[in-house]
Amino acid sequence: MAQIYIETHGCQMNEADSQDIQRRALSAGFTLAERPEDAAVLVLNTCTVRDNAEQRAYGRIGHWKAVKNADPTVKVIVTGCLAEQDKGRMRALAPHVDGIFGTRELGALGDALAAWRAEYPDDDFTVDREIETVMGGAGEGIAGPYDGLRAFVTVQRGCSYYCTFCIVPHVRGRFDHRPMREILDEVRLKTAGGAREITLVGQTVNAYKEPATGADFADLIAEVCAIEAVERVAFVSSHPKDLNEKLARVCATLPKMNPRFHLALQSGSNPMLRKMNRKYTLEEFLDRVGTFKAHNPAWAITTDLIVGFPGETEADFQRTVDVCATGIFAQAYMFVYSPRRGTPAAVWHAAGAVPRAIAQERFVRLKAVQDQAVRAYHDRKLGTTVRALIHGASRKDRTKLSAKTIDNVTVNFPAAEPAPDLARPWAEVRVEAASVWGVRGTCIGRAPTFEGVADRVDAPVIDLLAV
Ligand code: SF4
Repeated sequence: MAQIYIETHGCQMNEADSQDIQRRALSAGFTLAERPEDAAVLVLNTCTVRDNAEQRAYGRIGHWKAVKNADPTVKVIVTGCLAEQDKGRMRALAPHVDGIFGTRELGALGDALAAWRAEYPDDDFTVDREIETVMGGAGEGIAGPYDGLRAFVTVQRGCSYYCTFCIVPHVRGRFDHRPMREILDEVRLKTAGGAREITLVGQTVNAYKEPATGADFADLIAEVCAIEAVERVAFVSSHPKDLNEKLARVCATLPKMNPRFHLALQSGSNPMLRKMNRKYTLEEFLDRVGTFKAHNPAWAITTDLIVGFPGETEADFQRTVDVCATGIFAQAYMFVYSPRRGTPAAVWHAAGAVPRAIAQERFVRLKAVQDQAVRAYHDRKLGTTVRALIHGASRKDRTKLSAKTIDNVTVNFPAAEPAPDLARPWAEVRVEAASVWGVRGTCIGRAPTFEGVADRVDAPVIDLLAV
């Protein structure tokens, strides 16, 4: 069969779009490839949130030229935020790209896939493997057999908050909330297709307002949880401004909710928060988290932090360190500020950036403090048995499977699995070691559902003669 390779960079919005592309490709008659060199069509879903994401995307597009050179019938497609932002530039920099589709053009991409399908024969399609050395190594975010267990459902597109560092409102536009009926229909469709966990995604999901009725995000999650086939529900990303008591109360009444709240703080300094146009102070952030935790004490709070924002002083930075030192965050995604063309912060950066060396040094210090909190959170799982939804083989060690707990901790364990066991996707793992990246252990059971009884699993036998 003609195969399609889909690689996804960036946030869960892109994951959702890639699942949509995958669905359109499969219904057009493609099958999924796990390596670019096996595919007739290569799709790169790009991110532009930071400069290095942009560089990585251009690097990948460049590597794929080798596939196209080896077989000119191969099509290279780029979509996502970079495609939206850089259409003209990309055509000049990468003329081997056959199609550039913005984030609102997935329907057109689906039509193009359906039209291209007829160009490829049904027999196996493999380009000469010798090109592997110039492919730039393994990709990230590659569509695989376990992907369908997790479905990403977009609840809104765009964002109207215009944080001064962010490119999203410029490339994805202002808030555009989907009707609730449409979202629920998609959830039903995805659970019917095998999804166990539904992640509701949007740039600011908790600002969701149904256009016709005014129903809010708390109403939406209650409706999603009420669908019987849904096992688990997660959501990302949320804005502190829209975290209200109703959402905290409703989360506490819904046992299917994954106990993890991702709430971007960005900085612990009020002057920096004001300059970022974040619409809350540190005190308001902590107060809202406190209210949420009062209703949901077991939930993990995770966050995003920016280091070296233009004008950040040592005292501003220290406020961020102080917040992390309290251990409030089970995980933090930390970044050195990266200017994005067309944003106010890029202008401030050009006029007087925090020197790169200082920003890097602050990043290292903040990471050291936050890593202690992450490690402490993971350590608490030692000796316990966790149930986790399998992702697929560990990228670093193909003899291990990788899974995620419902509070989003990575769990790796040795497993001999000749073929994916999608009927028992929940692993029961005895946790034996913890580190900053996650935990390791032994799989002692596999279950068909999150609540279901696990079948006992024997530890894989290692053939010492074979190693
Ligand atoms: S809330 Fe701010 S950071 Fe988040 S998408 Fe909107 S503008 Fe960007």
